[in-house]
Amino acid sequence: MTRGIVRGILRIRHGLVLALLPALLAGCAGVPVGSGLPSVWHASPNHDLRRPNFVIIHHTTSGSAEAGLRSLTEPLRRVSAHYLIGRDGTLYQLVDERRRAWHAGASWWGGNRDINSASIGIELDNDGEVAFPEPQIAALLALLDDLRTRYAIPAANVLGHADVAPGRKADPSRQFPWRRLALQGFGLWCDPPYAPPPPGLDTLTALQALGYDVSRPEAAIAAFRLHFEADDGSIAPGAAPDAALLACLVERSRMPRPGSSAPSLPE
Ligand SMILES: [Zn+2]
Repeated sequence: MTRGIVRGILRIRHGLVLALLPALLAGCAGVPVGSGLPSVWHASPNHDLRRPNFVIIHHTTSGSAEAGLRSLTEPLRRVSAHYLIGRDGTLYQLVDERRRAWHAGASWWGGNRDINSASIGIELDNDGEVAFPEPQIAALLALLDDLRTRYAIPAANVLGHADVAPGRKADPSRQFPWRRLALQGFGLWCDPPYAPPPPGLDTLTALQALGYDVSRPEAAIAAFRLHFEADDGSIAPGAAPDAALLACLVERSRMPRPGSSAPSLPE
């Protein structure tokens, strides 16, 4: 075979591979990298990797970090998280932050139906009954600070699994120290005494303004109370949330946090 013929064959193969590249890449990744419609590729250098804009906190319901790691890496279970934090504060990373971990499942927050695509998922080794030990919460706070520094995630977007999947999930448990996190700038909180709420404030409208899916009102109310109301046994099951507390949280969700160290993103 002459050198010219060989070069010709290589050119044809090269062209074929280039032509098939989008399909090959799509097949590998499982997600299309472009529309697939005929288009002219005209590359721009002005882009970077997408940034997560939410943090979703879970507890594993496992008996140990090892059991949680096994569950979160078992292919058949199809669940994962970016991080798992052991009770002793050991931080495990399971998924690249640029990738979509499978932790939130069917979810909804403020109209966003695909929380996995927009979030970092953090699992805490906890069975749902016991308190979260100090080393574990200290490690979580350090991780949240790191994530806030790198991604400028708004305080209001640090949420629990129960918040984004009301009625379906109830983690992290009532033992989780949301108030302590909020004092560090992660998540919202209001302490009494609250200012009087606007007259006629509608509970479900306010819950929806915070972000909750209110299509099942009782589930949304239960998720709100799990997160934002201290459980001293005085609240009757099914009772509506305190209107003044709701109004305070809605107002805070719309305000930039005073003294926030979160960087602004120019792009
Ligand atoms: Zn969860």
